[in-house]
Amino acid sequence: MITARRTEEVRRTRSRIVNQTIGFVPTMGFLHEGHLSLIRRAKQDCGFVVVSIFVNPLQFGAGEDYDTYPRNEKNDLNLAQEAGADLVFLPGPDEMYPKPMSSSIRVEKGTDILCGASRPGHFDGVVAVVTKLFNIVQPDFAYFGQKDAQQAAIIETMVQDYHIPVTIVTSPTVREPDGLAKSSRNVNLTAEERKKAPAVYRSLEAAVDQMLSGEDVKDVLAVCSSRIAAETGGQVDYVELCTWPELKRAGQVKAGEPLLLACAVRFSKVRLIDNIIFTA
Ligand code: AMP
Repeated sequence: MITARRTEEVRRTRSRIVNQTIGFVPTMGFLHEGHLSLIRRAKQDCGFVVVSIFVNPLQFGAGEDYDTYPRNEKNDLNLAQEAGADLVFLPGPDEMYPKPMSSSIRVEKGTDILCGASRPGHFDGVVAVVTKLFNIVQPDFAYFGQKDAQQAAIIETMVQDYHIPVTIVTSPTVREPDGLAKSSRNVNLTAEERKKAPAVYRSLEAAVDQMLSGEDVKDVLAVCSSRIAAETGGQVDYVELCTWPELKRAGQVKAGEPLLLACAVRFSKVRLIDNIIFTA
């Protein structure tokens, strides 16, 4: 497995790969089974797999957890190699942003809801780094987790908008045995919060059941939000229902229309997100 810290090194390796498809898994590191499932999937589909590890300052707002975001490069390299990565790109902020950006892509649709509404500018930072990484790696396929469903939908649309020659593949959320979605941020939960956190997913599951059995969407969302707050002790940022993958707020469940039920919950040191995509 090759490791590269410089864009030039990635480009040099990339230019030598001519008869193989290239799969790409962008991450912020502190790898877990969710990331590894994407790397393994990429390895199944593609001849050469590139993983990037970069905690992107541009997608963190003031007061968010950029400084405390967990990092463990050595362990990440071992895990990436075991999962089948051929090249790991670990740029520093100076490599990705050698000078202040003089242009930007502003995400116009799908950001008035969910994390777009509660983290202004977040998705502009995401598409900036993903566009840079796509231009550096030039993958045929790029793999994203359903865990960050809004991100996956926004990137898919951005790729279409800008005719970027890459196919986006979205993979299911990998969970702990108790249902908590795997996340690098889970290590920043206190022991007590970690015990209670599975109630997030349990509450989403219950809400989906209630909506499928015809209960009023507004009532279900309110109950779900109160239940998450009561059972986790966390502060609910949002519990929302929207169409998938268009990300338009949905007030009712229509047969055959895929929907995304998503939430974000703030704990003492960390904010977690989770979701379920379902169709009535
Ligand atoms: P991150 O390092 O958190 O930015 O995530 C990098 C990629 O891994 C994104 O496409 C995430 O959606 C995906 N990912 C993170 N957690 C999970 C999970 N539990 N299951 C599946 N994919 C995940």
